[in-house]
Amino acid sequence: MADDCIFCAIVAGDIPATKIREDGDTLAFADIDPKAPVHILVVPKRHIPNITDLGADAEASAALLRGVRAVVEQEGLGDFRTVFNTGVGVGQTVFHVHAHLLAGRPMTWPPG
Ligand code: AMP
Ligand code: ZN
Repeated sequence: MADDCIFCAIVAGDIPATKIREDGDTLAFADIDPKAPVHILVVPKRHIPNITDLGADAEASAALLRGVRAVVEQEGLGDFRTVFNTGVGVGQTVFHVHAHLLAGRPMTWPPG
């Protein structure tokens, strides 16, 4: 657990969140400020700062994608967008890697 990491605190149960799904390696919970009718965050339970660090760990990478897949199946998502923001310049605000799953409204591409 990293000090001052809000997602580590959610994983630890120290900060409440609306849990969607959990397994041994990952936690999925509702985004507190949703940008779409469905906005779910999927995180590794272990603190990993971003997707490039995640990519250095094959097991953790696979576990996170399995977690994403399981949420998609559980929630019956049809079309959905998956976003990993990396760096303040593109809007990363929480430095514990998370997949945004966004669905439930039309979305343009590129996102802008
Ligand atoms: P990013 O800007 O890509 O780092 O995404 C961080 C996301 O975490 C934002 O969409 C926030 O709305 C969300 N967020 C921040 N704090 C919480 C929280 N306590 N519970 C749920 N989602 C949160
Ligand atoms: Zn963390």
